[in-house]
Amino acid sequence: MTRPKAAPSRLDPLSYESLRQQILRRDGWRCQSCGTMSKLEVHHREFRSHSGADSEENLITLCAACHAKVHRR
Ligand SMILES: [Zn+2]
Ligand SMILES: [Zn+2]
Repeated sequence: MTRPKAAPSRLDPLSYESLRQQILRRDGWRCQSCGTMSKLEVHHREFRSHSGADSEENLITLCAACHAKVHRR
């Protein structure tokens, strides 16, 4: 599979899901902000539109509440 150079790298849903699981496992299935283990989501530190890539270093586990907070500011 080749990716066009101009477009930001976007993973297909299946690869993204496995990447998500990888992030959750790395972060110990806990929100990295408050430590809860429920309603976990994976957040892009760098927004995709801002050249944020679907890479492990760019992703962090947050719960729904902390995730919403990050996006609200
Ligand atoms: Zn949280
Ligand atoms: Zn986010």
